[in-house]
Amino acid sequence: MLGAPGSGKGTQATILAEALGIPSISTGEMLREAVATGTELGQTVESIMATGKLVDDETMAAVVEERLATADAAEGFILDGYPRTLGQADTLAGILERRGWSLDSVVYIEVPEAELVARALARKRADDKEEVIRQRLEVYRQQTQPLIDHYRAAALLRDIDGHQTIEGVAKSIVDALGEAG
Ligand code: AMP
Repeated sequence: MLGAPGSGKGTQATILAEALGIPSISTGEMLREAVATGTELGQTVESIMATGKLVDDETMAAVVEERLATADAAEGFILDGYPRTLGQADTLAGILERRGWSLDSVVYIEVPEAELVARALARKRADDKEEVIRQRLEVYRQQTQPLIDHYRAAALLRDIDGHQTIEGVAKSIVDALGEAG
């Protein structure tokens, strides 16, 4: 699930996971949980998350590899918030290859930038202060947007108009995945 902060990808990942009966794996959620419970990982990432910057690729590789090794991921999964850099996309490709798995589709939820800012400001979370929101959008532009071309070139990208109701976006995703076979 690919999209800017505020694109609704988390919401859509949850809806789709429910519909398909597979887990939605949100790296942001996993990291927030680690911070909340005060694990070593949580202590490492807390200050990075608070600024809206990205946790380093190596740390994220360990988090994702461990999560994908758990039993409930064996029948399929939706990744929400990973990969976020080209390096992470390479890492993911390696993890999947070692397991004999592959990505079926990359769902890209596109939302106009002005709406992204408005939506992000409306959400209330510790890491959603206005300055942090801007930083997160900047990080997205610089580090995550290149993934759109990367996955388009691999013919995996499914473009979804995110400027619709939640139900409308969910239907568009199901339709796009159906067409993708
Ligand atoms: P999210 O809820 O997906 O927006 O993630 C919240 C925060 O967790 C991000 O702003 C990053 O600091 C960190 N994070 C989540 N996923 C990743 C990732 N794949 N790579 C690096 N940092 C991440």
